[in-house]
Amino acid sequence: MDLGLSGKIIVVTGGASGIGAAIVRAALAEGARPVIVDRSKSEVDAFQVFADLTHPQNCRRAVAETLEKFGAIDALVNNAGVNDRVGLARGSPAEYAASLERNLLHYYNMAHYALDALKNSRGAIVNISSKTALTGQGETSGYASAKGAILALTREWAVELLPYHIRVNAVVPAEVMTPMYRNWLNAFPDPEKKLDQIVARIPLGKRMTTADEIAAMVVFLLSSQAAHITGQHLFVDGGYVHLDRALG
Ligand code: NAP
Repeated sequence: MDLGLSGKIIVVTGGASGIGAAIVRAALAEGARPVIVDRSKSEVDAFQVFADLTHPQNCRRAVAETLEKFGAIDALVNNAGVNDRVGLARGSPAEYAASLERNLLHYYNMAHYALDALKNSRGAIVNISSKTALTGQGETSGYASAKGAILALTREWAVELLPYHIRVNAVVPAEVMTPMYRNWLNAFPDPEKKLDQIVARIPLGKRMTTADEIAAMVVFLLSSQAAHITGQHLFVDGGYVHLDRALG
């Protein structure tokens, strides 16, 4: 299947690690030109804008530097985020607001600043959410509410951007082994036991989803093969969120 992504400029936030890095590799494999927006250095040979996305002016700069380098933006993948465990009891109003800055506000800011370029290219947006938007997780109010808002924004932007033929979809991972996931796991007293318990409850194959499997869905959604898909929430999770809990 030809995804038609050759030469396309695809901006990937958080593209230096984990799921974002897999999306960058998949884009490169399709002949696209990914732009990594990340505060950490990527090991992949692709154009990178170094930026802490929690500052709106850095989102603006990331878009400006991309346009300066390539003159266009064909797609935006909002992916950067961190499960920062700002809970209801363990947290504060200030920490909650900071969690939304880490996980939600830059999704809006990147789309806002990239909008004119995306209108010019009739581009596409993919937002990475999380199962926690649907299932909750406990002790992570900031992250879970940001991920829920990301699903709502996906539908909202899909509607607002219909006249410009800009498609907007969300991908919802559940359990993917990445540096962020490893950090989250390591906070438990017995991380390997916790991991075994989680994996035993993943219906399809009793295994984690790979970052490459998330990336495959993302590049498909960005491609011309997905030309009539918009406003959708795609679960790439081995049935974790929707299938019968008794299976575990
Ligand atoms: P990851 O391995 O930590 O990669 C995220 C990358 O984004 C890192 O390079 C990180 O830099 C960067 N980043 C984070 N916040 C940033 C900021 N404010 N400014 C600039 N760069 C920033 O995480 P991942 O597991 O691939 O997660 C990617 C996305 O998938 C996130 O939105 C996450 O919520 C979602 N997700 C993941 C899972 C999972 O199981 N892994 C499940 C559901 C949803 P640093 O290394 O410097 O922090």
